[in-house]
Amino acid sequence: MIALRLGGLRSVLAIGAHSDDIEIGCGGTLLAIARANPGCAFTWLVLTGDDARCAEARASAAAFLPGVAPRLVLGGLRDGHLPYADASAGKDLVHRVRDEAAPDLVLTHRRADMHQDHRFCGDVAHQAFRGVLTLEYEIPKYDGDLGVPNLLVPVEEDAARRKVDHLMAHFATQRAKGWFTEDTFLGLMRLRGIEAASDSGFAEGFDARKLIMLP
Ligand SMILES: [Zn+2]
Repeated sequence: MIALRLGGLRSVLAIGAHSDDIEIGCGGTLLAIARANPGCAFTWLVLTGDDARCAEARASAAAFLPGVAPRLVLGGLRDGHLPYADASAGKDLVHRVRDEAAPDLVLTHRRADMHQDHRFCGDVAHQAFRGVLTLEYEIPKYDGDLGVPNLLVPVEEDAARRKVDHLMAHFATQRAKGWFTEDTFLGLMRLRGIEAASDSGFAEGFDARKLIMLP
């Protein structure tokens, strides 16, 4: 099989609705990109969050990628209200960060995600980033909206473990939720690893809505 490569990236933008979404949805992929692209700049945009969740986002972003500190932009908008009261502010923020980061790759929520804040991020990203490769990551949840990803990124076992250990260590506000457990995150990566025939057994899945192949 001829595989797509993650090389040659200069600027990567990850967009999440909530403080933990980027790490859950594409943490392993970000670790792989950072490993394969020395010097690549990373920008993380987290659109919602009160003081406690913004503090978690700051501490997490600073510690996640070995030797690389992403530029973190916190919107501070209201959790649960992005497509309603805060849509205009959210869209303005995505446009501002787009112009500042000029990314080669955008990682954000699936447009098919049933959480309103997540879906908003996917919709706005596709409105804002025409001509930029935009991959949609998945978040396991009560709504039961997981699909069949059409792009899989194998994740080394040490990266999969780092992601899960990091999530458990940095998001105290979420620990009481029944789904926020090591086996949830490892289990989903394990299933995607089977689909990817990953040597490590782990992978992350994305919806790639549009890919352009040059001759
Ligand atoms: Zn979320």
